[in-house]
Amino acid sequence: MSSRDLVLMTAPLREDFTIPCHEIGPAAGNPAVSFVSGLHGDEINGIYILARLADFLTAVEEGAYPKLRLAQRVLIIPAVNVLGANTLRRAWPFDQSDQNRMFPGNQMGETTQRIAYTVLEATKKSAYRVDLHGSNLYFEELPQVRLYDPTPEERETARLFGLPAIMERSVSPVFTTTLMYSWKYWPGQSFLLQVGQAGSIQLPHCQQVFRGLVAFLGRIGVLEGVEVAEADQEALYFTRECSVRIYADRAGMFVSDKTLGGWVSKGQELGYIYDSFNGAVRTRVTAPAAGLLTGIRRQPMLFEGDLLVRICTR
Ligand SMILES: [Zn+2]
Repeated sequence: MSSRDLVLMTAPLREDFTIPCHEIGPAAGNPAVSFVSGLHGDEINGIYILARLADFLTAVEEGAYPKLRLAQRVLIIPAVNVLGANTLRRAWPFDQSDQNRMFPGNQMGETTQRIAYTVLEATKKSAYRVDLHGSNLYFEELPQVRLYDPTPEERETARLFGLPAIMERSVSPVFTTTLMYSWKYWPGQSFLLQVGQAGSIQLPHCQQVFRGLVAFLGRIGVLEGVEVAEADQEALYFTRECSVRIYADRAGMFVSDKTLGGWVSKGQELGYIYDSFNGAVRTRVTAPAAGLLTGIRRQPMLFEGDLLVRICTR
């Protein structure tokens, strides 16, 4: 068990800074599992979950949980965009570049390219690779596993996280510079977890994903001694085609008392768009189809055409 500096960078003035990582478990070969979060600095849920996971696994290594044993090594990088996390910025603060558009990176390149190169080198040989994200500052996502053109093995493994939804997507022909895209070139399995909303911690989501990661480590045999219930919840697979989206038909203030993860019926009331000056109801937002509520807008101020709600139909 140890933590070390994955990347060391010098700063224009005063102290250098680093991107630290945890390496926990038997020190032989490549880490069996690599967890990454904070490629986007304002996605706090993932940073919190992985920092807590590192604390838990370190305690396991130190014997605080006598029934548990780490059989293989785990690599955890809680915050790749460490400067963005310090300033609650999605992008890399110096040049506003998106760290998740810098892969596979370049050892001799600019800072974000060197970071990308180092993160990919550290993680690419793991049998299992997991990248945690949140949505943006406006939209809350139900904790879910995202699969991109998955192999049958990845589709099977995705169930082991025990999260309520598994969303399949095609690898984007446009965003070829993401960590996920680069991982795909390597043997092993890759997963993206989408958790909640950026800018703050939604504790119930974090607790659910934390339990999911521990169960996952147990089910793949990396963490021995975990008592895992048979699939806590039936995992549901959704493709893009089963997503129904509701967009704002006018500007205003969107308010909803709905929480994610519930099933809604066709025509069910989901929230209101109010006139934000006189408070009059402009639109009563209802579900156009029955399904699982997987995403909802939390920043109320709207322009016409903004995404309000996503429902996944069976
Ligand atoms: Zn992200």
